Amino acid sequence: MQDRISLVVATRNLGKTSEIRDLLKNFQVDIKNFDDFGPIPEIEEDGDTFDENAFKKASFAARVLGLPALADDSGLVVESLGGMPGVHSARYAGEKASDEDRYRKLLKELEGASNRNAAFECVISIAVPSGSALTYEGRCEGKIAEKPVGKNGFGYDPVFYFPDYDKTFAQLTMEEKSRISHRGKALREAASEFDKVITWIRQHMPVMEKFDCKR
Ligand code: IMP
Repeated sequence: MQDRISLVVATRNLGKTSEIRDLLKNFQVDIKNFDDFGPIPEIEEDGDTFDENAFKKASFAARVLGLPALADDSGLVVESLGGMPGVHSARYAGEKASDEDRYRKLLKELEGASNRNAAFECVISIAVPSGSALTYEGRCEGKIAEKPVGKNGFGYDPVFYFPDYDKTFAQLTMEEKSRISHRGKALREAASEFDKVITWIRQHMPVMEKFDCKR
C-alpha cells in the first residue's frame, strides 16, 4: 500500500479546512493548513481572474512548503456591472470596509436596475512545487436582492437571492448552502475524481533520492 500524501490548504480559516477535510476523508490524504507551519509570507491576490489568483496562491504555498497545496479564489460577478466586483469582491468598498459596507455599496450601485442577475464563482487550484496545477470551477447563479435578508453566512450572502429556494444565501444553513454554492460545487468536482488527483500529485512530486553512507 502506498504512503498517505499531505495536502496543504492555503488558508488559516478553520471552517474552510474542515469542509475540505470532511469531503476528502475517504482518501489517502492528510489535510493541513498554514497553521500547521511557521510564518508564511502573505501573497497578493492581484490577478485579473479567479483562476490566476487561485493558481498563484496554490503554487506559492506548494513552492514555499515543498508540499502539494490547494487554494481557492471566489467572488461575486454582477451582470449589469460588467462582472464587478469579481476578483475585487473582498476589497470592493476599500481595505478597511466591513461585509455590510460592501453589500450596501453594491445595493447602491444597483438602485433602480432591472437586470439584477449575478453569480458566485469559485476556482480551486491544486498545485505541486514544480509549478504544475489542476483546476476546478464552480458557479451558482442568482439575483441581487433589493435589500439584505438573513443572518447566516458571510460576505454578500444577505443580498444574494437564490430563486430555486426563494431565499437569500444568508437564510440557508451551512449544509443547504454548500449543496448549491460555487465553492461546494468546485470542491465536490475535485473530490469526485480525487483518486486521479492523488495519482497526478504522486507523478509530479519530486522524488527524494536516498544514498547510503559509505564507511
Ligand atoms: P475568497 O475567495 O475567500 O477570498 O473570497 C473573496 C470574497 O468574495 C469574500 O471576501 C466575499 O466578499 C466574497 N465571497 C466569496 N464567497 C462568498 C460566499 O459564499 N458568500 C458571500 N460572499 C462570498
